[in-house]
Amino acid sequence: MRRLAASALGKLAWLGVDQAAAVAALAPVMRRDPHPQTRQYAVKALKAYGAAAWGCLHDLHDMARNTSLAEYLQRDAAAAAAFIEEAVRIATAAAVQHCQRCNVLVTADEYARAQQAFQRAFCDRCFDEVFLAYRYDAKFRIIGECQIQPDFYLPEVDVYIEY
Ligand SMILES: [Zn+2]
Repeated sequence: MRRLAASALGKLAWLGVDQAAAVAALAPVMRRDPHPQTRQYAVKALKAYGAAAWGCLHDLHDMARNTSLAEYLQRDAAAAAAFIEEAVRIATAAAVQHCQRCNVLVTADEYARAQQAFQRAFCDRCFDEVFLAYRYDAKFRIIGECQIQPDFYLPEVDVYIEY
């Protein structure tokens, strides 16, 4: 009966059920139901909830490594953990990101570029401004010993403007 309930909750994942409530109901069954087959059904049902089941990842990894469990339970726990991790990765990548300076929406390309350079989310316009300031600051420190204080630095052409 619990096995059927766990299985039914997994199928409901596609029908717009309250995902957090379903995951909360399935998690204790997955962790400690006395019947391994019932745990297996709960594992498979949690897998169907994808990223919503991220809170179960730790337990699923533990089960996957636990050699005292049935082999099929370890295998299904490992498969569920991998699937949920991939779902989390996709959901994170698709999440709407805002520029941390001007708060406009940033595209995936803008986000990737700014993340790589600054580990921050910047739109291209703010990226260029921050990058210019950053380059100016780096050059200023190097040539500061020579008492040169340029008013502007143009990184594209590596030119200092002083006036
Ligand atoms: Zn911006």
